[in-house]
Amino acid sequence: MKSSFEAARQYFEEAASVIGLSESLRDLLVTPEREIKVQVPIKRDNGQIATFIGYRMQHNSARGPMKGGLRYHHEVNADEVLTLASLMTWKTAVVDIPYGGAKGGISVNTKELSIDELERLTRRFVDEIHDLFGPDKDIPAPDMGTNAQTMAWIMNQYEKFHGFAPACVTGKPVELYGAEGREEATGRGVGILTLAFLRKFGRSIENATIAIQGFGNVGSFTAAYLHQAGARVIAISDVSGGIVNRNGIDVPAALEFAAANKSLTGFPGGEPISNEALLMLDTDVLIPAALGNVLTEQNADSVRAKFIVEAANGPTTPEADAIFRKKEIPVLPDILANAGGVTVSYFEWVQNQQYFRWDLSRVREELEKYMTRAFHRVWTISTDKKVSLRTGAYILAIGRVSRATELGGI
Ligand code: GLU
Repeated sequence: MKSSFEAARQYFEEAASVIGLSESLRDLLVTPEREIKVQVPIKRDNGQIATFIGYRMQHNSARGPMKGGLRYHHEVNADEVLTLASLMTWKTAVVDIPYGGAKGGISVNTKELSIDELERLTRRFVDEIHDLFGPDKDIPAPDMGTNAQTMAWIMNQYEKFHGFAPACVTGKPVELYGAEGREEATGRGVGILTLAFLRKFGRSIENATIAIQGFGNVGSFTAAYLHQAGARVIAISDVSGGIVNRNGIDVPAALEFAAANKSLTGFPGGEPISNEALLMLDTDVLIPAALGNVLTEQNADSVRAKFIVEAANGPTTPEADAIFRKKEIPVLPDILANAGGVTVSYFEWVQNQQYFRWDLSRVREELEKYMTRAFHRVWTISTDKKVSLRTGAYILAIGRVSRATELGGI
């Protein structure tokens, strides 16, 4: 089986060929700048030592300090983190924020650790890598399994070595140098672009049916935004399974239920459905908003959605992507669709550097501006060059990163 890094490389190569990128630049741009892998031992609450492996993959810094989330998940491995780091390089370039790309992760099942153990794990990881990241080097942020609390620990531990430095990490709590609107940002960005995407095909969001896989940070804010915009959210799910209701799910009630029960299991507003079956629903829009590699050559033929919006990172394998092109199902690619999170991370970093705070309406307004500008650029490239939106997004990103590399030199 192909590694996920090789699979992601296929998307890169396709766009690189369209723009005639030289072999030497291709080589440079697919080679990560630095791969960090460290031992992260902690003392468990019961006094035993447990050893974990932590990664920080720094893919490219041609356009600025490297940027990307930190993932705590039991399936985290070097190949996956590297793939996600490369996606960050293209993502920051697509929305034109002054960053490169990186990603981190610890292979851990967070459900098996207490909150104190998670804190010790996070602080110990920072102890191992604190010299290799920071406001002008590489700036972590939340991803799957981490949140604003994790970022607060990172900032606090980093500052023990380097002094006051809130810009060393983004996605912090609002009470501790975080930005208003950062928590909702990825889902809100997905929502904004889903509307823009449908509009291009002459479709309105009013009563459009939406199926969303994943009800974590990204899926839940996406559902809330689209519900509010007048769409009919017909299916949602979390790790334990999903709910379907063709008349439309009461999204505010589902959000309340999930907050109270930490799971959607038992939510009374629909019939149960498996995560796999959710992907096959007859729906206007399918939004994978959880794990990667869920749309594959095994199931792509059975997908009945009219449009796909990639809120997750890397949900579609290149084989599935080819099937969707053949079936003429337009796909809004991850490096554009879910870039709202890192965009508001950029706003947070800017505010931290200036000791100044924007209000929520300013954050939302700027987010909309960055997202729609990137969307229209990608749309134009894809129509001009007669390529998919994914290839269009990669063309835009690769163009920007390679231009910066040529201008700066090596
Ligand atoms: N983890 C998010 C992503 O995959 C956000 C990264 C960030 O804010 O730096 O885009």
